[in-house]
Amino acid sequence: VRNVTKILFTINDKDCIGCGNCVVVCRAQSSLPEVIGGKGPEKLGDVVLSIEDGKVKLGKEELCEWYQGKTCRVCIESCPFGVIEIETLEE
Ligand code: SF4
Ligand code: SF4
Repeated sequence: VRNVTKILFTINDKDCIGCGNCVVVCRAQSSLPEVIGGKGPEKLGDVVLSIEDGKVKLGKEELCEWYQGKTCRVCIESCPFGVIEIETLEE
């Protein structure tokens, strides 16, 4: 029996400048045409990260690879300001 793992997805958006790096590199959404087109999706439904009012916004976090049991750090490493943190808690 697998332990239940809780995923903590934290965005410290006061340090976010809305550059969109994290949106464009996200593995869960990088094939979306809106992302490939450049700026990243604005207010799209099926994305983990988007930019809204100049700040990163967490959308459907369950689409993030962490929820498929993978440990992806692409968005975390793309951010110059340490805005995004993801960790797991074993319960
Ligand atoms: S950790 Fe999740 S949100 Fe961040 S790039 Fe990977 S899949 Fe996307
Ligand atoms: S979280 Fe970081 S990488 Fe993403 S938009 Fe904000 S400043 Fe840019």
